[in-house]
Amino acid sequence: MTLTEEQAKQIKEKLLEQLSNFPQDKKEQITQQVNTMTPNQLEDFVKQNQLNHLGGQCIFCSIVSGETQALRIAENENNIAILEINPLSKGHTLVVPREHSTKIESSAQELAKEVKEKLQEKFNPNKIELKEIKVMEHPLIEVIPIYGTETGKKQATEEELKMLQEEILKKPEPQEEKEEAILEIPEKLFKMPPRIPR
Ligand SMILES: [Zn+2]
Repeated sequence: MTLTEEQAKQIKEKLLEQLSNFPQDKKEQITQQVNTMTPNQLEDFVKQNQLNHLGGQCIFCSIVSGETQALRIAENENNIAILEINPLSKGHTLVVPREHSTKIESSAQELAKEVKEKLQEKFNPNKIELKEIKVMEHPLIEVIPIYGTETGKKQATEEELKMLQEEILKKPEPQEEKEEAILEIPEKLFKMPPRIPR
């Protein structure tokens, strides 16, 4: 594809809309960078960063439909929870309603609470903040563990995010239960009434 001036303008606008959550200094830097790109440079940038959805679709709708990759750590009927690619801290998650509606429904709040409990158990941060935001007009809930060592949002590598996803999804091994179960069997057998031969 070759971008027309008009398409390039639209994509630039979409890109800049997404910067609303960035720290101020980063925002200015990226805004300047985006604004000075030629259509060709912009096209390369879009390809390299898998931003094809910027032709028109909202990035979160594109994630929900599976067109854009994201690492899920939980979901319910109406929402998915994905790892933030520019996390402020370990476990920073976004709860994304499957529908591009105007407000956050209670089912999204429920999933956010579920994720919060899971992250608390896994990583034991000082606290976890829940924040309702909108990106590209898609309502979201940010779930942000606070450890007291945060220095700002930082882009995570795919590898880092995958390891984190694995860590969050890993179930604790039910070792103790197994041992108990083995011990219980002979005891039960012992308690069975003796058979009386006829
Ligand atoms: Zn959307």
